[in-house]
Amino acid sequence: MVEKIGRHKRVPFIAGNWKMNKTVAQAKELATEIVRASTELLGAEIVLCPPFTVLTEVAMITDGSSVELGGQDVFWENWGAFTGEVSAPMLRDAGCQYVIVGHSERRQVIGETDSIVNRKVKAALNNELVPILCVGETLEERDKGLTLSRVKTQVLQCLEGVPAAQLTRVVIAYEPVWAIGTGRNASPEQAQEVHGFLREILGQNYGLELATCAIILYGGSVKPDNARALMSQPDVDGFLVGGASLEAKSFIKIIEEALETRKE
Ligand code: PEP
Repeated sequence: MVEKIGRHKRVPFIAGNWKMNKTVAQAKELATEIVRASTELLGAEIVLCPPFTVLTEVAMITDGSSVELGGQDVFWENWGAFTGEVSAPMLRDAGCQYVIVGHSERRQVIGETDSIVNRKVKAALNNELVPILCVGETLEERDKGLTLSRVKTQVLQCLEGVPAAQLTRVVIAYEPVWAIGTGRNASPEQAQEVHGFLREILGQNYGLELATCAIILYGGSVKPDNARALMSQPDVDGFLVGGASLEAKSFIKIIEEALETRKE
């Protein structure tokens, strides 16, 4: 199925998830270094996802550059009495084009379900934000041979009811839970198996064209020294990077590796 879909023209896409890190001063320093380097990283889509508290400051730095901005989460309502939440129009107003939804830390720690993530995907799309939809199995699910069925359920439930015209704007990130922040990345073959399967699922449910164009990222302990092997896989289009995005040097190196691998 994957071979029939064929080779793509998808540009390398690298997003940095800063999680709950960085003061305003630290965020400005990191964003400045990445924006400076971005002029030499042509052909890559680079997205920074800082915490809400520094979005506006980082937006001032990325403004006018090729680097784009994303939130780490979004609420499904636009306005109102929802203490502590941040909405899609607010993220747009702060300068975001993207938002991470369904990250495993939110699923595991906060208890987000696929139906909650589905509402967030729709809120993002209805407000011109591109959702970076995270899916991935736990170690227990992998050991029981449930990886593919788990990610299939997550993708289909999180995208349920999304109109076809909006689906082309969804980025998917395969992030095995056991590989996030653990230093233990999926092997290139493990990543390819799931990425190829996800593309197949997209093809079966939403058509070949959408599947061919879909951007599917890998996330989970991506570092400069494993980026090349992962990026060499035909269905890996880039990365959602956590820990290694907190330092300009390692994040930039990962982008360089991704770009060079695509040129080969
Ligand atoms: C993430 O937070 O999405 C992630 C993949 O983290 P790390 O790169 O640190 O594993």
